[in-house]
Amino acid sequence: MEFLDLKKQYRLHQAAFDTAVAEVMASGRFIFGPKVEQLELDLAAYCGVGQAIGVASGTDAILISLLALGVKPGDEVVCPSFTFIGTTEMVSLIGAVPIMIDVEPVGLTMDPDKLAGAIGPKTVGLIGVDLYGQCAQWEAIEALAKEKGLWVMEDAAQSFGAERNGRMAGAFGDLAVTSFFPSKPLGCYGDGGMVFTDNPDLAAKLKALRNHGDLGRYQHQYIGTNARLDAIQAAVLLAKMGFFPEEIRRRQEIGQRYGDAFAAVDGVEPVQLLDGNDTVYAQYTIRTRNRDGLAEYLGERGVPTAIHYPVPVHCQPVYEGLDLARGDMSQSEAASREVLSLPMHPYLEAGDQDAVVEAIAAFCRSEGAV
Ligand SMILES: *Cc1c(COP(=O)(O)O)cnc(C)c1O
Repeated sequence: MEFLDLKKQYRLHQAAFDTAVAEVMASGRFIFGPKVEQLELDLAAYCGVGQAIGVASGTDAILISLLALGVKPGDEVVCPSFTFIGTTEMVSLIGAVPIMIDVEPVGLTMDPDKLAGAIGPKTVGLIGVDLYGQCAQWEAIEALAKEKGLWVMEDAAQSFGAERNGRMAGAFGDLAVTSFFPSKPLGCYGDGGMVFTDNPDLAAKLKALRNHGDLGRYQHQYIGTNARLDAIQAAVLLAKMGFFPEEIRRRQEIGQRYGDAFAAVDGVEPVQLLDGNDTVYAQYTIRTRNRDGLAEYLGERGVPTAIHYPVPVHCQPVYEGLDLARGDMSQSEAASREVLSLPMHPYLEAGDQDAVVEAIAAFCRSEGAV
């Protein structure tokens, strides 16, 4: 059984992928060009935002977004502490300071009630994260940011394709970033990412920043970087968009099936949906008291699992002693001890899924219904 079966996805859609990639090879246009432009138009329309800017990874999307927003060394940016380090890492890389707050207990996204307490004179903005495939509580986050005059970035690396109260992931904040890392809901065959914004000034700046700050023909207006999306990845993504809605439907069906099964198992609690959200299940994640015991038991029985994430970001060695946490972090710390992600992908078969559920139920029975 695979945690995520990308080989099967390729086998099933091989003709579409091979044709799209061969077109790029024959065209001789490997950087930018028509595939990248088409993808940007299609994904901006899909998310319902004005502009999309293709970049080389989700991490680059965060980096050039921070540069476009004018973040400087010493500035403070509020982030959730329960996320992938990519969210906070680029803040640190440019010399700004990620200030971390706790997450709410339902979907494990940034707790809007903890925001106000983390905002100080040096705060310039905040990055919220859509965890495991569902959106954060953006209305509350955006309202507070507006009141305080802060910018908002949506880290939608795990939620591309998800919806919240009728808006698509990628459409929140002043700008939103996503990742096309192969294991994300919309993954390419290498690294890739995108920034979405309705703000034409930010869009123009982002386009320059991803290409050495160049306004065109060696007019370098900003210090930027090379963060370009390549045409082969754009071609793969355009091919994937042809069946992405069907893949989301399958993920949701499989997620529902897990949820129904776990309702009858004492000792495991799937991460729940926040009001107003659907999810694209970037991960299917449960919480359980003896998480490490369960992971080991499943591993011995051929069920692959993963932990997203075993260490809250404010506890990572690189941030040790820096005093970046603000307030109580108990939800984030509890989640890092209890979460376990199970096999989840659009091609997971019912028999394999039943085997996952049965193994978990057997473990929970042996633990005496923890
Ligand atoms: C994957 C991920 C990133 C980084 O994306 P890359 O494309 O791997 O650079 C950033 N934030 C979150 C929440 C992620 O899950």
